[in-house]
Amino acid sequence: MRACVLTATGGLAHVTVTHVPDPGPPGPGQVRIAVQAAALNHLDLFVAQGLPGTDYRFPHIMGADGAGVVDAVGAGVTRARPGERMLINPGIADYRCDACQAGEHQLCVTFRLLGEHLPGTFAEYVVVPEQNVTPLPPLDPALTWPEAAAFSLVTLTAWRMVVTRARVQPGETVLVWGIGGGVSLAAMRIAKLLGAKTIVTSSSDAKLQEARRLGADVTFNHRTQNVAQEVRALTNKRGVDVVVENVGAATWDASLRALGRNGRLVTCGATSGPNVSIDLRRWCGGWDRGSCGPWWIACIRSRRRARRWSGSSRGSSWGRLRWRSKRSGSFARARTACSLRMTAPFFRIESEFPS
Ligand SMILES: [Zn+2]
Repeated sequence: MRACVLTATGGLAHVTVTHVPDPGPPGPGQVRIAVQAAALNHLDLFVAQGLPGTDYRFPHIMGADGAGVVDAVGAGVTRARPGERMLINPGIADYRCDACQAGEHQLCVTFRLLGEHLPGTFAEYVVVPEQNVTPLPPLDPALTWPEAAAFSLVTLTAWRMVVTRARVQPGETVLVWGIGGGVSLAAMRIAKLLGAKTIVTSSSDAKLQEARRLGADVTFNHRTQNVAQEVRALTNKRGVDVVVENVGAATWDASLRALGRNGRLVTCGATSGPNVSIDLRRWCGGWDRGSCGPWWIACIRSRRRARRWSGSSRGSSWGRLRWRSKRSGSFARARTACSLRMTAPFFRIESEFPS
């Protein structure tokens, strides 16, 4: 089968489209998906660069996100039938251990992601556990394949932070950094669905204008404005109820300064650097008057992730989170698309199969 693979780490120069052995028939409890579209995430760029501690086997098939048609099912599969149109959840667990039984798939010691630890979705076929597929939600107009492919990873990540961990409530105020990114945009839109007021930042006025069009209540340019000061002024010094982080070192201090008493900070990444400091006097003494409040650090992996993903994508509130694609490209141009991903805010970039 054709696949977009890494032949080595070190960047996009090692990305190529080539022929690789197909994954073979699905094993017990597995389904084989004929991929119709795959979506790029920043994760794919990290993978191409080389992630510390990841054991690559080259050629490594890239891609976490995808959608396609069930091509074959293994023994014992009850959740999927050949011919069904499916979203793919890239987080793979064993679904047997105590953590999995408790719905905490992200705590499973075998938890891995397609395209990072396992062969990914940038291929004609991918084999996954039956728990990792769910039918495309019945929307009108119907989801396109690129829209379906773009759904899972950023939405799951943002849902985990905003709903599961931060437990955003109607009327609360939520600050989201870097609204041009997929997770940030998903977080803002989920917070809006929950009835929260959203403050978003970007270094680009054009992105902020687009964010307002997509529902953001207040926008700040974090290059030209002091976000913490602006948030304090906007909230009568109270600060926000929830900060959604994924930037890390560059924004951490401002996040804490913008956070109100008993606020919650959730984060899923550290694109500007992983090492941050915390003034414990602010955290435990000043802001929470001596009691360490519910300050949650969320990770990318989601509580009851597969269950929520499966249930909600069937037409509940997630069904309103349709992702748009600005630029779609052919499979053969996947490497070019990887490059475009760096410069196309707000939009997922997908490669449709076949081309
Ligand atoms: Zn498990």
